[in-house]
Amino acid sequence: MKIPEARPLRARGARPYEMRERRIPRPPGAWEARGRLGAPMASVPDELAHAQLEWDTPLYRMAVAQFDQALPVADIPDWIAERFRYPERAVILSIPVRMDDGRRVVFPGYRVQHSSILGPTKGGVRYDTEVTLGECAALATWMTWKCALLRLPYGGAKGGVRCDPRSLSPGETERLTRRFTSELLPIIGPQEDIPAPDMATNEQTMAWMMDTYSMQRGYAVPEIVTGKPIAIGGSVFRQEATGAGVVMVLARACNRLGWPLAEQRCVVQGFGNVGSVAAHELHELGATVIGIADISGGMHAEAGLDVPALQAYAREHGSLEGNDSGRRISNEELLELDCDVLVLAAREDQITAENAGDVRARLIVEGANGPTSFEADEILRERGIPILPDILTNAGGVTVSYFEWVQDLGRIFWTRDEIRAKLAEKLSDAFDRVWDLSEARGVTLRQAALAAGIREVAAALDARGIFP
Ligand code: NAD
Repeated sequence: MKIPEARPLRARGARPYEMRERRIPRPPGAWEARGRLGAPMASVPDELAHAQLEWDTPLYRMAVAQFDQALPVADIPDWIAERFRYPERAVILSIPVRMDDGRRVVFPGYRVQHSSILGPTKGGVRYDTEVTLGECAALATWMTWKCALLRLPYGGAKGGVRCDPRSLSPGETERLTRRFTSELLPIIGPQEDIPAPDMATNEQTMAWMMDTYSMQRGYAVPEIVTGKPIAIGGSVFRQEATGAGVVMVLARACNRLGWPLAEQRCVVQGFGNVGSVAAHELHELGATVIGIADISGGMHAEAGLDVPALQAYAREHGSLEGNDSGRRISNEELLELDCDVLVLAAREDQITAENAGDVRARLIVEGANGPTSFEADEILRERGIPILPDILTNAGGVTVSYFEWVQDLGRIFWTRDEIRAKLAEKLSDAFDRVWDLSEARGVTLRQAALAAGIREVAAALDARGIFP
């Protein structure tokens, strides 16, 4: 199935502004009565109904296409499905920053909250040149299904600033972060929306966000963000949680497939927070990591790469640039290496219709969000290459973020072993539900994972109903 170009964000004839009709003045004669949401309701004029919504971008269309594909398995009422096609709230900000050379530069910023049905929204903040409203909307939607799949009392959010983080000095990054946080004050809060790190943001970013928020309240509010330093209420094991969780899920899948993990030849794309920890965990468990890539390109060594040495190098130099531990290859070549397990831990849209036919891995593991395009999914399914989907596989991060938030709210802290054990339990439970649903319904692991998450939120919305 192909995603149509500029596909309107609606299905089966629904209209995008259907649920907001009361806010739009009603010109006489321009309305038609409709009954999709139960009681007959007015809809919007055709010219508005066909206008593209602001977040309608290829990545958001992919999130909606995946959602539509999971619906037959989720089996939820139409009116609930229709509600889930739209984020609850999206804001665009402009963030003025005083640069080190005295210039003032205004950066675009975004925050999208997809669903608050199960609790506060939760999601990362990324600094990247490609951040858009649509990207945030897609990532926020996936966060909703991810939190629900893991049975965490959260909905999904995502935000970020469009900037080149590598060109900003520490001082500029701090001023950008503090102003971004101030602009977000009306919509974030420990019971409203709780940010976390994502691409190019880290513990320090979260510390600045926590401090900015706390200064406005007049007292320390550690529970406003997760992924912050332990010194200000961060959780042990949060930093490693996503990468470690990726390998916990992979280990469980290997178990079901009858593949000894220690015998697998693995390739890891991305060597940041998620990829470097996943590579390290694989190395620790005896698997052979034969390929690694970061933004500077890839490297390949059939006998296995020395992951701890590469981590030390990346820590010192900021990336793997200049390291010659293995044969240097391009990122494209890395994705096509002959291997057992390909861990995608860099960013979205890496396996597409162009290269899906050339992937030679036996199993794909999505550490990143949205790394496999909708078309690639279909090609890989036809080729019999299973994918451990992002909303299950990288859920370790948000799960330990939840543990961090609970610890902050209760002002009581758990040990590393306790958190690791709680994480393993949560991921195993979600993995088993996804695997069993996939087998029972004969659908992909992605469809099963999405359907399992969608069902949880749908049950809550069904019980709560639409206000008023
Ligand atoms: P990061 O910025 O720490 O690391 C990203 C890594 O990918 C870097 O090594 C970078 O050099 C590399 N990279 C970027 N573009 C690349 C390309 N085109 N080819 C090869 N390598 C490339 O970010 P992160 O926190 O590790 O996040 C990575 C992915 O995981 C993102 O999709 C993010 O949304 C997702 N994720 C992160 C977390 C988390 O807790 N950090 C949780 C869930 C999902």
